[in-house]
Amino acid sequence: AKNEGGDNFYFFRESMNKESQKRLVLENDMNNGLCNAQFVPYYQPIVDLRSGWIVGVEALARWHHPDRGLVMPDEFIPLAEESGLITTLGQQILQQACLQVKQWMDQHSQELTLAVNLSGRQFNSKELVQDIQGTLEEAGFSHGNLILEITESMMMGHVDRVRNQLDQLHATGIKLAIDDFGTGYSSLSYLQHFPLNSLKIDRSFVTHLLNDRNKRAIVKAIISMANAMDLDVVAEGVESREQALYLKQLDCKKVQGYYFSKPLPAIQFEKLLTNENSR
Ligand code: C2E
Ligand code: CA
Ligand code: CA
Ligand code: CA
Repeated sequence: AKNEGGDNFYFFRESMNKESQKRLVLENDMNNGLCNAQFVPYYQPIVDLRSGWIVGVEALARWHHPDRGLVMPDEFIPLAEESGLITTLGQQILQQACLQVKQWMDQHSQELTLAVNLSGRQFNSKELVQDIQGTLEEAGFSHGNLILEITESMMMGHVDRVRNQLDQLHATGIKLAIDDFGTGYSSLSYLQHFPLNSLKIDRSFVTHLLNDRNKRAIVKAIISMANAMDLDVVAEGVESREQALYLKQLDCKKVQGYYFSKPLPAIQFEKLLTNENSR
């Protein structure tokens, strides 16, 4: 066949173009969405196992896309990180969540912690600390009620710069949690070097808590280590009463998961709080 190499090359370029075209469309869509307030936080309760009360919420981003409907984070967070849009997205989620949770605290005269996810990419911004502080002050949200969730991998990369920003945030009273604990880098040495307040045990351990001895041993060890180090510990992905009871036995203080509630839009979360207060 004539011109074979050329055809192959052409085919290769075509498929590359399709991929990058799709990304470009999505990125453009996201940009639009950020300008038009299409990204909103959903709220999932964090429950104190002993009292059964809601003591905190995690804000999780959702995208109300004009054509596609509700879009989940798995579909936009990776590209938001690659493109750098995560900085704006993160700010918007933090801002909305601070205003909302502040309002709930005032209305129900109840303390709530607000947990917000932070991507590694956000530490590239020199204004990260300033932006977060500015948002809290504008919303009148007290620093001590905010928990920033970071992952183990973030503490590995540019350690010094990230460490510096985390120190600054911590110094203002903001709390820091390690998300997906147990799934990342296996050295525990950073636990002493970073100003941490809590650990969130990854869902993968909780899911198999009752039928996998090894997972159970790991969860036990994490909880006793956290308690001994005066770190708060939250078990993620609790889907059954049995899991909750078992975690309570292990002296786990807080839990989060579908057994208590899925992440909810603000109006529905508000109902949870109201029901709880009329109990
Ligand atoms: P994550 O921070 O580990 O959040 C917990 C995820 O587990 C959420 O998924 C939540 O809906 C889900 N989940 C909670 N309880 C259960 C349960 O009992 N069973 C099961 N199967 N799942 C449960 P979601 O909302 O789809 O978010 C996925 C990830 O996207 C988050 O994982 C986080 O890494 C990222 N993400 C979400 N919102 C933001 C954001 O505003 N900023 C950044 N940087 N990342 C975000
Ligand atoms: Ca999280
Ligand atoms: Ca997590
Ligand atoms: Ca995660």
